[in-house]
Amino acid sequence: MIGFIELGHGDFIIYNADIITMNNNYPYLPKDKTIEYVKEDNPFMAEAKLVRNNYSSDLNHPTGAVVVLNGEIIGRSANQSAIKNKRLLDLHKNGLCIRKILKIPSGKAYWLCPGCASPSHHAESRAVRDALSHQKSIIGADLYLYGHWWCCKPCWDSMINAGIAHVYLVEGATELFK
Ligand SMILES: [Zn+2]
Ligand SMILES: [Zn+2]
Repeated sequence: MIGFIELGHGDFIIYNADIITMNNNYPYLPKDKTIEYVKEDNPFMAEAKLVRNNYSSDLNHPTGAVVVLNGEIIGRSANQSAIKNKRLLDLHKNGLCIRKILKIPSGKAYWLCPGCASPSHHAESRAVRDALSHQKSIIGADLYLYGHWWCCKPCWDSMINAGIAHVYLVEGATELFK
């Protein structure tokens, strides 16, 4: 898949998504899997962004995901913090994040911080569960994720188990969300 990244002032980089995928150094990627990229105005990516903006409660790293089968959205969700209290969520957003304070790398030791969404409450896993609550099989469906630049192992496991065919991130996700 060939795409391009606009740099403004009419400049842009043409890239081959396969090469970008190999050079991205994701903290985790199953051996036989790739991550693909679509533009922000792709309707499914736009919906993932909307879900993220409206429903995530992990205000440090809000993410949203939709599951698409045969051109139709059959599941959607945003990542959720274990904290429900609005004041605590704001404190978490404003720096009181134990993982941030301890400089824990992306994808590691979620259990340390109740403010960070744990893997089972990441947008990908929740969107898969939402889709499976609506229909028995979602084999061959695609997942669109907005708000992050890679997917953790528990999320990949749940996507692979459900038969998700393609995982799409927004173009420039690494630069936007790393
Ligand atoms: Zn946190
Ligand atoms: Zn995850």
